[in-house]
Amino acid sequence: MFGNRRSLIITYFLVVFVFLLYFSGDSSLLMQKFDQLRPGKKASAGAEITSTRTEKTLMEGTSFETVLYVIESPVEGPTVMVIGGVHGDEPAGYKAADSIATWAIDRGRLLVLPRANVPSIAVQERNAPGGPDLNRVFPGSSESNNETHVLAAEIFKVMTDYQPMWVIDLHEAEYCEYQFRGALGQTFIYPNEGSSTDIIKELLIAVNRSIYSERYGFMLLRGSARGSIIEAAQLLGSESVIIETCEQMELDDRIRYQRQSVSSLLYLLGIAVF
Ligand SMILES: [Zn+2]
Repeated sequence: MFGNRRSLIITYFLVVFVFLLYFSGDSSLLMQKFDQLRPGKKASAGAEITSTRTEKTLMEGTSFETVLYVIESPVEGPTVMVIGGVHGDEPAGYKAADSIATWAIDRGRLLVLPRANVPSIAVQERNAPGGPDLNRVFPGSSESNNETHVLAAEIFKVMTDYQPMWVIDLHEAEYCEYQFRGALGQTFIYPNEGSSTDIIKELLIAVNRSIYSERYGFMLLRGSARGSIIEAAQLLGSESVIIETCEQMELDDRIRYQRQSVSSLLYLLGIAVF
């Protein structure tokens, strides 16, 4: 009984002591101690380094007008370009790119062109009305009277101006590669000339680790089509990869895999996204 009372008195004085310390001139010192102990202090300090986002308009004043987002960190690092919506009937690519355009990064520079081919997205077709396949006319021509060729030239100019270390092009295929060869769904397509095969293999492992069904795991294919974005990237000495999701899966899953593939590749390049 007496013991309990004594511990109550001790507790009371302790509470009063801490209270007085907190509201006295020493409170900042005390709070500093608390801050040092608090988990996540590092994260809040890191958050002070924020990236900025600016917008640039391509094909201004035409039906192909589209926005390029330039996300830049003050901390030096690689430049990576992400392109979605080259084909208007492949929604996971441009929907994932829409959200990638809102990301912040802790180093380097992220260029995001979420909806490259706006008229093709409007009609949900592979190509813009009357236009050729945008992904077969690179590096394009600014002199052409066909706007798809002019668009390719404007995108290629962005690549020339910024010299990205990597170009990531987001696409979809109707069927999965596991269903039949050449279907292309759930693949990373990496040019034969690329030399960062280790990173691509690590990417494959990182992304597949999170996929619930083994048959939906990504496979690696090598090669590049004539006039494609990844071939144009090679002209500039940039590394490049196509992320192809499979339309046999739910749209939300496809968007998630697109986003995850991009964030995993950025992570492998030393860029954290938040
Ligand atoms: Zn495509």
